[in-house]
Amino acid sequence: MNILDIHTHHLKENVSQYIYSCMPSAFSPQKGGYYSVGIHPWYINSEIRNEYEYLKKIGSHPQIIAIGEAGLDKTIPIDLSFQQEIFKLQIELSEALGKPLIIHSVRTSNEIIQLKKEFCPKSPWIIHGFRGKKELAEQYTAQDIYLSFGEKYQKEALNSIPLDHLLLETDESDKEILRIYESVANSRSLPTKQLVAQIQQTISQLFFNR
Ligand SMILES: [Zn+2]
Repeated sequence: MNILDIHTHHLKENVSQYIYSCMPSAFSPQKGGYYSVGIHPWYINSEIRNEYEYLKKIGSHPQIIAIGEAGLDKTIPIDLSFQQEIFKLQIELSEALGKPLIIHSVRTSNEIIQLKKEFCPKSPWIIHGFRGKKELAEQYTAQDIYLSFGEKYQKEALNSIPLDHLLLETDESDKEILRIYESVANSRSLPTKQLVAQIQQTISQLFFNR
């Protein structure tokens, strides 16, 4: 296992070093690649239940190692209760498949924490692209939710969370993932090598050895 980047929307070389995130209908596995597949709240529309049925069909594919990104977003013009409905289906699927859930949350932390308490999921939950403040980071990790940081983040938040709940990603950025490891290692006053080893251990636990 040599994944470093747990969330990107770009296909790159070294397919075994990242988790490529896409919608179900876009899933087309390359040899050796890893995928997280789910319905992003931005793309919810009236046809979305068909897309969900397809996700259910392919969800057990061995190269799909997580469900998502899925989640809630208060800044888009899609009814929040409809978003909740589609998100809950994916929570249930992540549980049924025993695969982690990668979550997109914009101004919906209360809803996410509420759902975490309601579902008590056995599959790990990971908030991707976390840019919130220290207080929110602590609220999430207190609920055993993992946080994935990308190119931009609040240093105080990054430094406040337990190292074993920290993941890194590039998401839409073209930045090399190793540059993000270096910046985070610097912020946490750790050798980059040690950070890589710690995060790879977390990744292997979450995605491969539960
Ligand atoms: Zn994303």
